[in-house]
Amino acid sequence: MKLFGTNGVRGIANEKITPDMALDLGKSLGTYLLQNNQDIKVAVGMDTRISGDMLRSAAVAGLLSTGVEVVDVGVLPIPALQYYIRDRANAGIMITASHNPREYNGLKIVAGDGTEFSREGETEVETIYFSHKFHQARWDKTGGYFKDQSAIRSYMDGIIEHVDADAIRSAGLTVVVDPGCGAACAVTPLLLRELGCKVISLNAQPDGTFPGRNPEPTKDVLSDLMNTVRASGADVGIAHDGDADRVAFVDENGEFLDEEDLLALMGSHVLTQKKGNVVTPVSSSLRLKDIAQSMGCELTWTAVGSIDVAHKMIDINAVFGGEGNGGLIFPDFQYCRDGAMTAAKMLELLARGKKLSELRANIPQYHNLKDKIKCDDPVDVMKAAKLALKHEDVDDTDGLKIWYPDGWILIRPSGTEPIIRIYVESSSSGRVKELMEYGRSVVNECSAGTVD
Ligand code: MG
Repeated sequence: MKLFGTNGVRGIANEKITPDMALDLGKSLGTYLLQNNQDIKVAVGMDTRISGDMLRSAAVAGLLSTGVEVVDVGVLPIPALQYYIRDRANAGIMITASHNPREYNGLKIVAGDGTEFSREGETEVETIYFSHKFHQARWDKTGGYFKDQSAIRSYMDGIIEHVDADAIRSAGLTVVVDPGCGAACAVTPLLLRELGCKVISLNAQPDGTFPGRNPEPTKDVLSDLMNTVRASGADVGIAHDGDADRVAFVDENGEFLDEEDLLALMGSHVLTQKKGNVVTPVSSSLRLKDIAQSMGCELTWTAVGSIDVAHKMIDINAVFGGEGNGGLIFPDFQYCRDGAMTAAKMLELLARGKKLSELRANIPQYHNLKDKIKCDDPVDVMKAAKLALKHEDVDDTDGLKIWYPDGWILIRPSGTEPIIRIYVESSSSGRVKELMEYGRSVVNECSAGTVD
C-alpha cells in the first residue's frame, strides 16, 4: 500500500487528509526516527490552510506519544522549515498541500539534512504506518513540546547573506509581490523591503481560504500582479505557490516569464558567478542545457522530482539545479527548492541594470507541447513502448525519452493517475507538432485498452 505520492501525501482536508491520518503519520515518523537514535527533535511547520491547526495538532500528538521532542515553528514557507531542520532538528513535518486548490491539505516529511525525505525513508515510514507497530513511550518518557519563533528570521538572514545585498539595495528596485495569501506572506514582502526595494504587495495577508487567487501561481491567475506591475512601473512582479518553494515572475511590461525561461535565466546567472555542473529532470527544456554548454559547463538529467534533482546535485557537487515549474535550488544556500531565495537571486540579477524583458530575450527559444493519454495499465503500455522504440535513441532515466537531432519526446507514466504524459520540444514549430503526433501514435498503438 502507498501513502506518499511524489510530494508527500495530499488530498481533501478532513476527507482523505484526516486528523487520524496525521496522528498515525506522526507516530510512524517518531517510531522510524527512534530506531537509529534516542535523542530526537522533530520540527513541525505549516502553511496558511484552514485545516492546518487541526492536522498539526494531531501530527504533534502522534510524535510526542513516541517520545520524540517536538519544536513547533509556526506558519512559514517550507524552505524556511528545511533550513531550520538542517541546522537545528533531526527531521520535520510540514502541513501543506503546496500549490493544490484551497480545499486540499497534506503532510510532507523532511530529512535531517533539510532535503526532502528519500523515497526509501518514506517507504520505511509507510511500512510502520500500515503495520500500526508504533513505539509507545512510557508515561514519563513522552516527548517535550515547545515553540520557536526564530525560524523565519534566521531563514531571511541566511538568504540576505547568500546574495549581493549591497548591490540590490543600491539598485533601488520597485517590486510587486503576490504571496497569494500563503506561507510566503511571512517572508517575501519583508525580505524585499530589507533588500532595499520599494514593495507593493497583493494578497499578502495570511488567509487559508485563498480569497485572491488559486495557490498555484500560473499565468492565468496572475492578472492582478501583471496589471499592478504595469500600472506602477515596477521592475518585476513576484508570485509564490502556497508553501513558497516555487516562484513565478512577470517582467517590467507585465509579461509572465515562462518557467523554463526562468530556469535557464537563473542557471546563466549562477554560472556567471561560479562555473560547474547544473542538474534538471528529463522533462525540462533544452534552454538550460544550451546555456550551460555555451558557458563550458555540463548538464545532468535526472528523474522527475525535486528530491532526485537535489540528491544528484549533492552527489556531483552541482552549482545549480531545478525544475521547469519555478522550483529552483541554490546549493550554496541549501539543497531544496526555495521561492524566496530565487526571488532574491532575481533581484541580484536585475540589480546589474538590464531589464527582465531584455534578459529573457537572450534565452534560446524552443517550442514545447504537453499532452496526456488515459490508459488502463500504464506499466504494460510503457513496456510495449520500450520494445517499439528499440531502434531509436532512447534514454530511460524516467519513462522513455527519445532524442532526435532537432528535438525530443518524453513518454512517461503518471505516478498517481492512470495516464501517460507526453512532452515534446523542438526549435521548430512544425517539427514539435510532428513529434507530438508520433509520441501519441506510439502510446496509442501500445495501448490496447485506451479509453481516451
Ligand atoms: Mg510548493
